[in-house]
Amino acid sequence: MNPLERLLSIETRLESGALSVDEACSELFTGPKPWHTAWWKAERARLIRRECSTCGSETPPLVLQHTWQPISWKEALRKGGPPNWDWWKEQHPLPAMDWSKEILIERPVCPVCGSIRVRPRVRTKDWTCQAGQCGAPHERHENWAFPEPHYESRPDLKAIASHKRGLRDEYQRLAQERWQQWLQSPESNLNRLNAIRLCVSESKRYLSFQDTKTLCKSCAGREDYHYILESEGDAGQSIG
Ligand SMILES: [Zn+2]
Ligand SMILES: [Zn+2]
Repeated sequence: MNPLERLLSIETRLESGALSVDEACSELFTGPKPWHTAWWKAERARLIRRECSTCGSETPPLVLQHTWQPISWKEALRKGGPPNWDWWKEQHPLPAMDWSKEILIERPVCPVCGSIRVRPRVRTKDWTCQAGQCGAPHERHENWAFPEPHYESRPDLKAIASHKRGLRDEYQRLAQERWQQWLQSPESNLNRLNAIRLCVSESKRYLSFQDTKTLCKSCAGREDYHYILESEGDAGQSIG
C-alpha cells in the first residue's frame, strides 16, 4: 500500500467503526514517513519540472516544494472542538485558592523602631535591637538595649511558605485529576475523532501533491516554506 492508499484505508475503517479513534491515531502517526517511500519518489519524479517556476533556472538540483502543510495533531485537537481541552477547562474550573492568606504570629520586636531583629542577652539579662545597634545608617537609633521587647503580630513567613507549598501540591493534584477525567470522557473521544478527520482530510490534500512547485535550490531557500529535498526533511510530520 502506498501512503495515500494507507490513509484511505484508515479513513474507511474509522468511518465504518472497524477502527477506534485511538487505533486510527496510532496507525496514522506511526509507520513509514511518506517521503521515505518509493511511491513518493515516483510522484516527485512525475511532477517535477525541468525548470524553476520562479526564476526559470534549469541548473540542478531542482526540488519539488510543498507550498502548503497539513495541520499538526495538536492544532487539529484545538480546532476539532469544542469540545476540546480548553472547553473542558472552562466547564471544570479548579477551585479558587487563597494564595495571599495572611498568617500572623506574635513576635518580639524592638520597642523603639519595631524591628523584629531583636536578641536576648543572657549576661546582662536584657534585649538588644540589631537594627538600632548596627543596622544600616538610617536604621540606627539610641536605646538599642532594653529590658523587655514589645510583642506584636507579624507575618509568619515559615507558615506562609508552608501554606503555599500545600496549595501548590493540591492544585497540581486537582489539575492532574481534571486532565485524566478529560482523557476518559466521551467529549475527549469526540474531540479526537474530529481532529483525526481533519488530519486525514489535510493529509489527503498533502499527498495529492496539488500544492507543489518546482524550484531551484536558491529560490527554494529564499521562499518561506519548509521544503523537502529528495527524501530528507521533516515537513508533513503530522501525517506520519
Ligand atoms: Zn529559481
Ligand atoms: Zn530598634
